[in-house]
Amino acid sequence: MKRTALITGITGQDGSYLAKLLLEKDYAVYGLMPRSTRYAFTNLDYLGVTGEVDYITGDLADEASLIHAVRRTRPDEVYNLAAQSFVAASWDQPLWTTEVNACGALRLLEALRNFAPRAKFYQASTSEMFGNCSDNGIQTEQTPMHPCSPYAISKLYAYWIVNNYRESYGMFCVNGILFNHESPIRGLEFVTRKISHNVAKIKLGLANRFGLGNLDSRRDWGFAGDYVEAMHLMLQQETPDNFIVSTGETHSIRDFLDAAFRHVGISDWGRHVFIDPAFNRPAELVALQGSSDKARKILGWRPKVSFEDLVRMMIDADLKRLLPGDAAHVE
Ligand code: NAP
Repeated sequence: MKRTALITGITGQDGSYLAKLLLEKDYAVYGLMPRSTRYAFTNLDYLGVTGEVDYITGDLADEASLIHAVRRTRPDEVYNLAAQSFVAASWDQPLWTTEVNACGALRLLEALRNFAPRAKFYQASTSEMFGNCSDNGIQTEQTPMHPCSPYAISKLYAYWIVNNYRESYGMFCVNGILFNHESPIRGLEFVTRKISHNVAKIKLGLANRFGLGNLDSRRDWGFAGDYVEAMHLMLQQETPDNFIVSTGETHSIRDFLDAAFRHVGISDWGRHVFIDPAFNRPAELVALQGSSDKARKILGWRPKVSFEDLVRMMIDADLKRLLPGDAAHVE
């Protein structure tokens, strides 16, 4: 019999890549979709899987819809990827961010505890929970957490309630502590996609300049397609546990710009980028670099796409979107 997976956040970047992976593994895939979804099928269409997923209307803010989704799908595996996921917006909407990211995870756990207690549960936790804490510049599963945004704090609540349901009720619940991961379907508001989209426009003569915040922020960027494999592997283990998923490399936004402009043959990119103070955050997370040693050892997972290849993949996809056909070919 087919295994059944329920994915919240199905229309987002990770939901779409995960749906594709699980469909390739012959799962029956159900996707929870809010009535007011922003992207609808854009990302699922991009990966060619829209018609293979069963959709259920529901919202992490609405317990009744989660109970309905769980009772209808009787899932073997549940991946809670839905979130107000944009850190900057969490200062503008701190209560909504908490409602969805923190209370939403709890609502879903309660629905499972009552109606599908044997389902395995994956929670999309984040490196943002560490804030500026590290052990000699590296974050591990043991690094203390000191979140520095309402987004990160909401995710820290979800992280702990997942651990608590595992310990209190013996449920199979895990946290994947994922460092930043990107792809051609990353939301346009996120810095990497903003760069790839604007660099493609500049290359094609459709724009000349764009604004960014702190170019010296450093992140550990991987490819979303690699990271969803780790999510799946976590739910295939005998024992539930938390894992960091990262590349172990750190790059600045300046490095990302260098690689992006280099790929389209522009070396003096300074004239195309300006610093816009509007993007400064009330509290800054300076640098992230994760150790995924535990995931590599226990899950046998490792990232396949390099930083340079990720940048190239994103630019090429944006060039193609802006100018379909051979004209978008990059030398
Ligand atoms: P994303 O592209 O922003 O997708 C978020 C998804 O959640 C969208 O499908 C969104 O639907 C849905 N959603 C938002 N509010 C909802 C609600 N109230 N009820 C149900 N669904 C709702 O994010 P992503 O990059 O795929 O990330 C997936 C998860 O991993 C998120 O929880 C994120 O916080 C976490 N994470 C991401 C990264 C990363 O680098 N990408 C790193 C660590 C952790 P609509 O917007 O269409 O309404």
